[in-house]
Amino acid sequence: MMDRCIPKTGTFTRAGPTAVLPSPDEIDESYAGVLMRINGFGTAGDLENAIAASSGLESSCLRKVTIVELLARISGMSVEEFVCRHTTVPLRRGITPHHVSTPHGSEARRGILSMASRRQNSVGAVMCPGCVRAEQENLGRSYWHRELQIPGTIWCHRHRVPLLACKQEGAYFRSPSEFLSKGTSQQIECDEAFVNSPAYKTYIGLCAALMETTRPYDSKAVGIVLAARCRARKVRRSTKSRGWLNWVPTLSGRARELFPEQWLNSMVPSSKGEGQIAQLERAAWGTSHSHVTTYAIACAILYASADEAMDDIYLGVRELEALEGKCRGWDRSVVCTDTDKNRMRLQAIVQSN
Ligand SMILES: [Zn+2]
Repeated sequence: MMDRCIPKTGTFTRAGPTAVLPSPDEIDESYAGVLMRINGFGTAGDLENAIAASSGLESSCLRKVTIVELLARISGMSVEEFVCRHTTVPLRRGITPHHVSTPHGSEARRGILSMASRRQNSVGAVMCPGCVRAEQENLGRSYWHRELQIPGTIWCHRHRVPLLACKQEGAYFRSPSEFLSKGTSQQIECDEAFVNSPAYKTYIGLCAALMETTRPYDSKAVGIVLAARCRARKVRRSTKSRGWLNWVPTLSGRARELFPEQWLNSMVPSSKGEGQIAQLERAAWGTSHSHVTTYAIACAILYASADEAMDDIYLGVRELEALEGKCRGWDRSVVCTDTDKNRMRLQAIVQSN
């Protein structure tokens, strides 16, 4: 439901801050930083207050409104459009068990809007020195690119240089050119053979494709698709001993072959006492939700390209939705218990109808 505190329509009620449009692929906080600089605001709070005041927003309501909504308003976009174009939300909730029919940036779910302002890239704000210099020369200003904030992105293919990361708090609000000469570091050792490998390109391509989505994929359905792919590619999902099946490569074993250890360690951190292996297995079993980047790593192991992976996920998820739609009374919760039996049982029910 739309927050009643925000006027639904209309222009600003009185002269507001000077506005410019965000650059394509510019991340929300980078855009906020530009508005702060051209209007002489010292903090993001000053900018928020100015946009809110010019929008006729009551000060008592300001706490309920996210900065993303205010930035959408000053840029002339709908909140959904702004979230999809200028935040990392589409990637971060690209594959999820929660509210899968809710579009990214929907004002019906305030929690999703709140997550829009939270960064999850632990290495800091990421930039390409070549892109920064080119933008300064051609546009007069450099900005923080959304695509470079995809976790695990370590190389600019345009300039063929390793990316730099800045851990300074609030870096996104400042121009990346400020950090060029100091305050940056290479994320991890960058091996050119790795960044040109199909596995790395598939991983990055899949994350970039998820960044372009307008609503998420159901993690249970994606797990079923990945499980089928494991069977087709003869990759074991589990490291548990299966007797004579021990010769079959495991998902986590393939991950260690295709990705450098340092990169993999930074991408699949331990969670609730579980390590990389358990998280990769969970993604391919579809038994529990994993981080989006873990699904992307599993896809990079199982598919030759991001396009192939996205096609299979898209078709597989739609197929399962159609099957479920035909099975009235089907208890959706059982989908997560046994992927093989579920799929067979769903098909058997449809065929018997
Ligand atoms: Zn570059």
